[in-house]
Parts: sequence; structure tokens; C-alpha cells
Amino acid sequence: MPPTTAPYHTEMTDSAPTINLSSLLRSLGDTSVSGELTSLRYEQGGEQHTLEFTEPAPYKVEVHTIGGDGEFWLSGRFRPTLQMECARCLRPVSVPLDLELGTLLRYDPATVTPHLEETEEGEEHLVFGLPSLDLSDFLAETTIVEAPLSVLHDPDCKGLCQVCGQDLNEGTCEHAARVPVVEPDQITLEREESPFAALRGLDLPDN
Ligand SMILES: [Zn+2]
Ligand SMILES: [Zn+2]
Repeated sequence: MPPTTAPYHTEMTDSAPTINLSSLLRSLGDTSVSGELTSLRYEQGGEQHTLEFTEPAPYKVEVHTIGGDGEFWLSGRFRPTLQMECARCLRPVSVPLDLELGTLLRYDPATVTPHLEETEEGEEHLVFGLPSLDLSDFLAETTIVEAPLSVLHDPDCKGLCQVCGQDLNEGTCEHAARVPVVEPDQITLEREESPFAALRGLDLPDN
């Protein structure tokens, strides 16, 4: 690994994750920033949102010049843990993500807010106008795109009773007889046994 003389900043506060690219804008080179985030404030559709993480989310971002005309390559890693709801029983589920970051960066002094833009070749560029690049929107968007649409707290989650809302993982309710819950291991047993296993419970007359 080549020795690095690039400035290396670590942010431990919860301020916006930023990387200062002023030295890269003056001369070729690379720079990096790392830190931890407990939340991310970002803008989407003209509104401010906050993405909360259940534990400090480590990030590391590196930027390399790839030409003399304001083009850079941003790479790195971000490991946020989101709190989502189990799709069946709604209890909170921690969802750890391990995100590889990689995008082209383009400096355009006319840009006010850094944003992703698609080039004519269909490639995404993160366009920025200030040497101090706020990574909040980029990290938030990457997280949202990579997050699963739905999660289960357990693959065998029994969900909620559709009549009274009882959490069937914690016990049955009076509706259990009408809304039978099929245990996953019962399904396996029936498959493994003979096709007549289902008849076992019937009271057949003895000959
Ligand atoms: Zn569940
Ligand atoms: Zn019920």
C-alpha cells in the first residue's frame, strides 16, 4: 500500500459529513474523510428529512482526481444500521447495511446544492459547487436505495391476528381456531411423512 500524505480528518460529532476538496481543486491528488453518524439530515423533494441510525454508522470516503478538469472519483464504505418494522408483526428490526460507495464527482462552481446528475452517456455524476462537499444527501440516497423494501424480524414470524391484532409470536388468541396458524415445522413434517399422514387424526372404524 503506498504511503499517503493526504490530509485525514475524523469527524466524531454529528455534524454533516463533509469532505474538503479545495486542495484537490488546486492540484491533483487524493483526500479522505471518515467518521461516525447517528443520523443524517438530507433533502428530498424540497423537504428536509432525517434518517436515524440505531447505532453510530461508520463511514469512510476517499476522493481521487481523475483528470485536470474538475472530475473526481469518490469511493468508500458506509455501514448504517436502520430501524425498520417487521412486515408481519410490526416489531422494530435492526437492519445493518454494508454499502460500497462509488461515483464520479464533477466540480461545477455554479452548483449550489450537491446533487446526482445523469450524463449523456447515462452515468451518474455527483455535481458539487463548493470545495467543502456535504455528503449528507449522497449518503442518505445511497442508504435508501440499498435498504430492503421489507424485512421480517424472524423468517418464521407468525404475524398478528387479523381480527384482534394479537401478536401470534407471543401466544394465540380466541380467534386462533378460526384463523389457523400453520407452524412451519408442521409443513416440513407432513411433506416428509406418507401421503396418508393427514388421515392419522381421523377416527377410522376398525375392521
Ligand atoms: Zn415479526
Ligand atoms: Zn385474535
